[in-house]
Amino acid sequence: MSTELASPMTDLDRMRHPAEALELVVAHSAPLPVEQIPLRACAGRVLAADVTAPENHPPFPASTMDGFAVNSEDVSPWREIVGVQNAGPVLDLEVTPGMAVRIMTGAPLPPGADAVVRIENTELADDHVIINQDVINSGDNIRPIGSDIAAGATVLETGVFLGPSEIGLLASLGIDPVSVYRKPRVAVISTGDELVEPDQPLAPGMIRDSNRFSLLAALGQLPVDVVWAGKGPDDRVHLETLLRERIADCDVVLTTGGVSMGDLDLIKAILGDLADVHFRRVFMKPGKPLNFATSGQTLLFGLPGNPVSALVGFELFVRPALRILGGHQEAVRPRLLVHLAHDIEPTDRIDHQRAWIAQNDAGQLVASTTGAQGSSRLASFTGSNGLVIVPPRDRRYVAGEAVEGILLGDLARIP
Ligand code: AMP
Ligand code: MG
Repeated sequence: MSTELASPMTDLDRMRHPAEALELVVAHSAPLPVEQIPLRACAGRVLAADVTAPENHPPFPASTMDGFAVNSEDVSPWREIVGVQNAGPVLDLEVTPGMAVRIMTGAPLPPGADAVVRIENTELADDHVIINQDVINSGDNIRPIGSDIAAGATVLETGVFLGPSEIGLLASLGIDPVSVYRKPRVAVISTGDELVEPDQPLAPGMIRDSNRFSLLAALGQLPVDVVWAGKGPDDRVHLETLLRERIADCDVVLTTGGVSMGDLDLIKAILGDLADVHFRRVFMKPGKPLNFATSGQTLLFGLPGNPVSALVGFELFVRPALRILGGHQEAVRPRLLVHLAHDIEPTDRIDHQRAWIAQNDAGQLVASTTGAQGSSRLASFTGSNGLVIVPPRDRRYVAGEAVEGILLGDLARIP
């Protein structure tokens, strides 16, 4: 009915296509403020300012070989060895006509030399060296000053992910501390009267809280600070207080449970009171009831209670948001074309089946799903390294057919 569609309540409850839901999440996510942190803490962060080389690298002309530093214009067949220059402090050595300096890889070139003859092309005779090389060119086996990085050059741009080589580059240029985007501060709240701690015995009707632990593990793979993690009972006042506190000190608040249609689905109601809700349901399986709201700068994700739904929701919507907050430019995992290893029966929503994605000899990606795909069955996630996306349609998907997939872990090889 048109009157129903016009009501804001109905629009909030409208099932969003996953792409539309993701767009809403992305639209409400922005990089956090910049902070300066020690270089040794930068791995996994994103650079928040362009880096210009303050100095040349190498900072002096350096030998790339073990050998002898010589002057290329000197034609003496043998030369007197005047000393040894190791990689390290500059010694008081000079190459004059008829002289050579024994030099090691990475050592500074002594004055008077303009080439290095590699050790393999020489012979030693007492304190002399015989050069067995017809032509010596100026610059042979020398890394000129600034040849790796010239002073003043922009070496890394804002938005670059700081992995091992970037960290090494910053270290080699003496950039410490480094400007990066702040880590998101995150809270994880499991809700439900039925939840007990993993190390506690189960009373009748109770289950152990698994969501908090799976989500903490998922968060552990991203640069975030978890500032609070715990559980709350199905009690409106208690949960509302908890959420207010976490909104005040977090950039992202994750809850699980309490968002479906049951009487105790309090999170949905509390988010409606405390925050601006952007959507409540996604046209997907698992994890249809997924609430996304914002309060000021804080993002709130009301993830479903079912353990698989909570993790799939995290992967599809929370992880991209956390990456954007952390300054990443590539926030969303790419979609890949994968070939089904077996037939799949579609469902009435866009199904995200847990799968093992591997590359065959022909270089194709092949996906096999991981057995029963119930949203409470965490075992369907273990042993998987990705998701295959199976939209609804009126006929089954057949083995060999190509569908979209998302790699969540390392790509496997078909043995
Ligand atoms: P709810 O959305 O609160 O109705 O929860 C849906 C289902 O997920 C119920 O079977 C809950 O018992 C289960 N569930 C909720 N929270 C958790 C949790 N933290 N760990 C494991 N299962 C949960
Ligand atoms: Mg519940």
